[in-house]
Amino acid sequence: MQSANFLFCPQCGSPLSETAITNRLRKNCPACSFIHWGEFSLGVGGVIWKKDKVLLVERANDPGKGLWTIPGGYVDHGEQIHEAVKREMLGACCKSSFTES
Ligand SMILES: [Zn+2]
Repeated sequence: MQSANFLFCPQCGSPLSETAITNRLRKNCPACSFIHWGEFSLGVGGVIWKKDKVLLVERANDPGKGLWTIPGGYVDHGEQIHEAVKREMLGACCKSSFTES
């Protein structure tokens, strides 16, 4: 995978170098030690049980649009993983047609 195309450090503005770090060429800043670890998204999911039933949601987007899955989503930048799980579970419960009295 190709490293990011930016040339200057996003933290201090110094020109970036490209150095082998943890066995990969990575953009890094000699001035402030910034390392560009890559662009990625972190996903979370959770299982909600009630008695002998499990909450499933229908995927709205590809991959797997229309298939059933456990609720989940992405972790926002700076968000704690457990907070992302709670946010996604709450969203799934509020948006879902799953109701039981
Ligand atoms: Zn820097």
